[in-house]
Amino acid sequence: MQVLVYGAGQLAQMMYLDGAALGIDVQAVDVTDNSVVHPVSKAKLACTLTQAVDSADALTVEFEHVPEHLLEQAEASGKLFPGMASILVGADRVREKALLSQLNIPNCPYQIVTDVKQLTECVEKLGERLIIKASRDGYDGYGQWRLSKADELPQLQQELAGLDLEKVPLVVEKMLSFDRELSLIGARSRNGEVVVYPLAENLHHQGQLQVSVAPATACDDALIRQAQQIFTTLVNGMDYVGVLAVELFQCGDALLVNELAPRVHNSGHWTQVGADTSQFENHLRAVLGLPLGTTANIGGDAAVSAMVNIIGCDDHQMALLGIPGVHLNWYGKTVRQKRKMGHINVTAPGYQELGSKLQRLSDYLSTAHFPCLLDESKRLTSAL
Ligand code: ATP
Ligand code: MG
Repeated sequence: MQVLVYGAGQLAQMMYLDGAALGIDVQAVDVTDNSVVHPVSKAKLACTLTQAVDSADALTVEFEHVPEHLLEQAEASGKLFPGMASILVGADRVREKALLSQLNIPNCPYQIVTDVKQLTECVEKLGERLIIKASRDGYDGYGQWRLSKADELPQLQQELAGLDLEKVPLVVEKMLSFDRELSLIGARSRNGEVVVYPLAENLHHQGQLQVSVAPATACDDALIRQAQQIFTTLVNGMDYVGVLAVELFQCGDALLVNELAPRVHNSGHWTQVGADTSQFENHLRAVLGLPLGTTANIGGDAAVSAMVNIIGCDDHQMALLGIPGVHLNWYGKTVRQKRKMGHINVTAPGYQELGSKLQRLSDYLSTAHFPCLLDESKRLTSAL
């Protein structure tokens, strides 16, 4: 079987690696020049995009910002999963907010802005602490601005004045003081079967994911049910096929949806070592209409996993592999500031052991590039 992935980054690479074990051949499209490439070596393959589309059993995406003309061509083949409408929901915060309202799913209070003058009204309606997001083409905190005091408004309006907000509106959200960030990842297959992974707890720094822990600490059944209900409403509401990631803010007992990613997700990388079936394999199974794999924790109910992102550096010491249950995934990219270079997965029989392993891991990593690791290790070591 063959799957063609639009986008040739690390997510396509990891789909390839898991697909290979099942005899599924994954090819990738480099959307900068529409060439078909090998997802690991990035070597160009001897076929055109049209030929690759024709020979694939399913087409999918590894990022939501695929040029729309390519999505249209893919959709026309009848083999694109998730479908174009679902991908565009993830690519456009205005569509995303409309879907959340339509399905009655709680999310952050917001306003849509098509003229910088409207920001004054946003402050009146939402308060002076705001997070301003470009509705398209943002990721990892790019395309975002923050307002912390009303008197910063004129300067921000000046900064945003050059943007074409009629074309790409802003979604302005109230800055929430949530208790923590969680995500729920799951898959829905072509025949409507749904599986979900345990909730992951995500630690961000400067708008970028640093560490995920799964299952999240201190989750009661009501919280887990609430998250699963949101997930099921979304995938059934969109007739979604594939892995979907739902980013959540927890405020007390309530969950609010931050955003949706219509694809495999960074906060699900722990599933490579911590779950019976990884998110990459389940995505391939879902889009090909194969039975989905179970999402149970490897190592039993008490087992836990962490994923540590390697961002903007390549100075980790390979001796870290000597820590039991530690696995490195490297994406083979040139180092750039804020660029995701790879990740480290860690498994442990419980939170305290996971905390100790993160502490050991910090001996092999620079504090400058892993600013959250020691605090997270301490938090887990004291987790009940
Ligand atoms: P990514 O690609 O990493 O998911 P992104 O650029 O698509 O990020 P968001 O997920 O919307 O953008 O925001 C990035 C981070 O900024 C969030 O994970 C959260 O830490 C913070 N953030 C976003 N919206 C809010 C909000 N309304 N209130 C408080 N913090 C927020
Ligand atoms: Mg996000």
